[in-house]
Amino acid sequence: MSIYSLAIVGFGGMGSQHGDLLKKVDRIKIEGIYDIDNNRKNYAVENNFKSYDAFEDVLNDDNVNIVLIATPNHVHKEIAIRAMEAGKNVICEKPVTLNSKELEEILEVSKKTGKLFIVHQNRRWDEDFLTMKNIYDEKLLGETFRIETRVQGSRGIPGDWRKEKQFGGGMMLDWGVHLIDRLLVMVDEKIKKVYCSMSYILGADCDDGFTLNLTFESGKTAVVEVGTSNFIALPKWYMAGTEGAAIIEDWEMNGRLEIMPKKDEADAKPIVAGAGLTKTMAPRLEGEVLIKELPIVKSTILDFYNNVIDVLEDKATPAIKNSEVMRVMKLIEAAFESHETGKVIYFE
Ligand code: NAD
Repeated sequence: MSIYSLAIVGFGGMGSQHGDLLKKVDRIKIEGIYDIDNNRKNYAVENNFKSYDAFEDVLNDDNVNIVLIATPNHVHKEIAIRAMEAGKNVICEKPVTLNSKELEEILEVSKKTGKLFIVHQNRRWDEDFLTMKNIYDEKLLGETFRIETRVQGSRGIPGDWRKEKQFGGGMMLDWGVHLIDRLLVMVDEKIKKVYCSMSYILGADCDDGFTLNLTFESGKTAVVEVGTSNFIALPKWYMAGTEGAAIIEDWEMNGRLEIMPKKDEADAKPIVAGAGLTKTMAPRLEGEVLIKELPIVKSTILDFYNNVIDVLEDKATPAIKNSEVMRVMKLIEAAFESHETGKVIYFE
């Protein structure tokens, strides 16, 4: 059973998280790290990792089978191409690149060299997503007609490269890429219409949030939303179906399902609501809906690294397919086009 040697390029926040996680993967050994920042090099050495002096040293190290890229986004393409041309397989952080054209260039090199290129779309292993996907797949709400997925905070964009467009900053490429990726894994349908508005509340040159509206082929709709100036956050997930609804409120997985147990009910009685009466919007009475706990799906992100090993040994197909990553990049481009033109984009 072979052990794969991996070098981490970019040892900041995410690079060091990979370092921690990979300690739990028996068949991958961290050969060393490379970072352009001496402080990060020193930090790596303090944590018992070998630190390469130059990126060329990683490329020339015959022990290294896999290069893991965890640098800011604008250099993913160049590092990935150079690594594959030097005979290394590549795991790349999200967003894969700044646009679909850059991804095409990478995929050509992957094809030419026969080296694996896979993107770390780790949030496919998040419990909130897997739980909502389970509800969707099992039709626990009947036919789903509406999905909302969002993250909202109030701390603005971090003050690093994420604030600047030239480095691939902005929330669409940061959180957007995760939320869109997961939604498209959940809903196995063509997308008909895309409409997006970006926010620039904080005055950065890249988006600090956005609201993306999608209409799928069947007519079901989705909202993908990211905000960084939201002191009260809306629910992370809301899903509505013909027989019920589901909600996940927050990171702590507070939420529930409300499901209608029977059909052919009597007409609702009007209630006094505000300055008027309403029958249509009268809340359900006790016993009219079943309130259920979320069917939580557990997972481990270590499965991502194990899949990489299985793919290298021809035992599995990639858990993250490059065709899926490309579709997300093209959708992101359509979202920017919609924002810039103010128009609905007809997508697929
Ligand atoms: P960071 O700023 O904390 O770390 C980036 C590191 O890369 C820094 O130490 C920097 O010195 C180094 N670096 C910059 N250019 C380099 C180069 N040319 N060669 C080598 N090192 C270089 O950023 P981060 O938060 O760790 O983000 C890094 C990547 O990881 C980004 O692509 C980001 O989108 C992604 N990320 C993914 C997740 C996730 O959950 N998948 C979470 C956070 C960040």
